[in-house]
Amino acid sequence: MPGAAQKPSRDCPLCPRLQAFREELRGREPTWFNAPVPEFGPRTARLLIVGLAPGMHGANRTGRPFTGDYAGVLLYDTLARFGFARGSYGAHPDDGLELVDARITNAVRCVPPENKPTGPEIATCRNFLKGAIAEMPKLAAILALGRIAHDSVVAALGERPSAAAFGHGASHQLGQLKLFCSYHCSRYNTNTGVLTTGMFEDVVEKAKGLAGI
Ligand code: URA
Repeated sequence: MPGAAQKPSRDCPLCPRLQAFREELRGREPTWFNAPVPEFGPRTARLLIVGLAPGMHGANRTGRPFTGDYAGVLLYDTLARFGFARGSYGAHPDDGLELVDARITNAVRCVPPENKPTGPEIATCRNFLKGAIAEMPKLAAILALGRIAHDSVVAALGERPSAAAFGHGASHQLGQLKLFCSYHCSRYNTNTGVLTTGMFEDVVEKAKGLAGI
């Protein structure tokens, strides 16, 4: 069984811009988490969901991916619907919600200004994504939320971008793993109709079925 991967420290200095933003937030909002957000869910899960980066008022505030911002509502409701979560999502890390055979992480662990990590930040944080993938002994499928997460997962797996084009609902076999893509479940995408609840549910259902989960 693979061992636990190296994680970013609370004061990870690898991305100077993100470090400066984090320091600013620590001064402004001292009660917030304000640190690289760890994975949520069991390391033995067969499904890994990869988001973009912590939202400022969501994961960066609460310390749990997709927790406390709008994107979490659709994500956690859908996971519960397909048996990947137990309990109810209460938008805070002590709501008792448990993931079942699923784990969540982000392509970038620290909150980026305006929700936009730069290319070098995504590339730097990819080492932690690689570690997160490598430390899951039963991993069968990855669901990438949005193009940035998708591209970073493809690179983390050592594949060329042409091996797995991004498209909502697309899936690719990459070695032993199946990669599923969805538009990101952000409020912007759901409010504009780019992603509907039905579209998101279809992808999670497909991931569950095709990955044999
Ligand atoms: N919260 C996260 O943790 N990740 C995202 O991609 C969006 C919100």
